[in-house]
Amino acid sequence: MGDSGALRALRHRQHRNGDHSLCSPGRCPAIAPLSEAAPEPTKAPLARPSGPPVRMPVISGEVDGLRAAVEAEFPPGDELSRQIALRLVDLAGGGGPASVQAVRALGELVAAQRDPR
Ligand SMILES: [Zn+2]
Repeated sequence: MGDSGALRALRHRQHRNGDHSLCSPGRCPAIAPLSEAAPEPTKAPLARPSGPPVRMPVISGEVDGLRAAVEAEFPPGDELSRQIALRLVDLAGGGGPASVQAVRALGELVAAQRDPR
């Protein structure tokens, strides 16, 4: 890329004045070559515990809300479904994979309760 003499003169003059907007990377020490320009900020790897990957412990307050919702959803008339649902609530409060499974099963139970086939 051949610069005209005028451009080169302008660049030189601006360079001496501290304006490096026309300077070429690699030729002007004020402009870092592209390969060295602004190194990517090293992304700190997400701190991941080496234990079980997914753990969704349900804190007791959430279980209480879940229990109340289940009791409203399953009226005492349907004792079997109600007991199963309440048992699943207990399991959901235990944490760990069993808790996740219990919540899922509870969801299916509620779906069946609302949409009996
Ligand atoms: Zn410069």
